[in-house]
Amino acid sequence: MSLTSKQAKELLHSQLDEWILAKTNFDALKSVETKEFDFSDFAIRIQFNPARIQSSAAKIDAKSIRERKCFLCPDNLPIEQKGIPYGEYQVLVNPYPIFPEHFTIPTYKHTDQLIAGIYGDMLDLAKDMEEYTIFYNGPKCGASAPDHAHFQAGNKGFLPLEKEIKSITKETVLKSDKLILYAIRQYMRNCFLLETKDKDAAITVFNKLYGFLELKEDDKEPMTNILTWYENGTWYSVVFPREKHRPYCFFAEGDDNLLISPASVDLGGVFITPLEKDFKKIREKDVKDILKEICISDEKMQLVIDKLKM
Ligand SMILES: [Zn+2]
Repeated sequence: MSLTSKQAKELLHSQLDEWILAKTNFDALKSVETKEFDFSDFAIRIQFNPARIQSSAAKIDAKSIRERKCFLCPDNLPIEQKGIPYGEYQVLVNPYPIFPEHFTIPTYKHTDQLIAGIYGDMLDLAKDMEEYTIFYNGPKCGASAPDHAHFQAGNKGFLPLEKEIKSITKETVLKSDKLILYAIRQYMRNCFLLETKDKDAAITVFNKLYGFLELKEDDKEPMTNILTWYENGTWYSVVFPREKHRPYCFFAEGDDNLLISPASVDLGGVFITPLEKDFKKIREKDVKDILKEICISDEKMQLVIDKLKM
């Protein structure tokens, strides 16, 4: 299995030469409107991105999923789409980008989106595609194909979280000579940061954490978003346990409505608003309310930390 950031970049450039939809959407991204909210220790950027409407408004109930053609299955990919094989996966250009360089990395096989068993693949991808941050959206946490296993990758330096996480207040939950697991509670979104040079240690501790997260009725895994990257021989992996898939404002009628369906990118500090009215309307308070609503509460966070420390 071999893959480099350079190969991924070459794929992107060749696809932009031959695939009009991808070219149009990546070009549009260059002039996309953004604004930023400053919360003193960190920032949240808002990106007005109309091409993301399909994903943000995606119907992911069992019936809708059954009745549509899976857009990540090899047989259903657009004719122009080319991929780089990577073991059981292929690296594809995401034609509806958020990042200036944005990839989707699905398995060839049509199999449920579940992180247990493939977290190690995420670490491998982060190491091989070192110029990119790899992310995972759980089946009820922003994945628009909850029935087909996939990761995404976006170029480093885009998400405010990558830098902020270094300086934000952290508490050590677990520490060994191989790994540190931090809890982050002063970031408006409760989360964990795993820092290690050892892949096996990362998988062991990830599984432990995963095992302590709440599994909701009828779900196959605890609701999570994960961002992982590799830097100077070290993996950084941020796990966001989720309380809710979509916030109140997503379903609200009239003035209260904001079409925002948060996933890894939003939790990484870039909120996506596919509609202009929402881009204009959204305030700092909305960002704060949404994060509070979709991430786990301080009480639940404390319970997980207590279990990890036992
Ligand atoms: Zn599929």
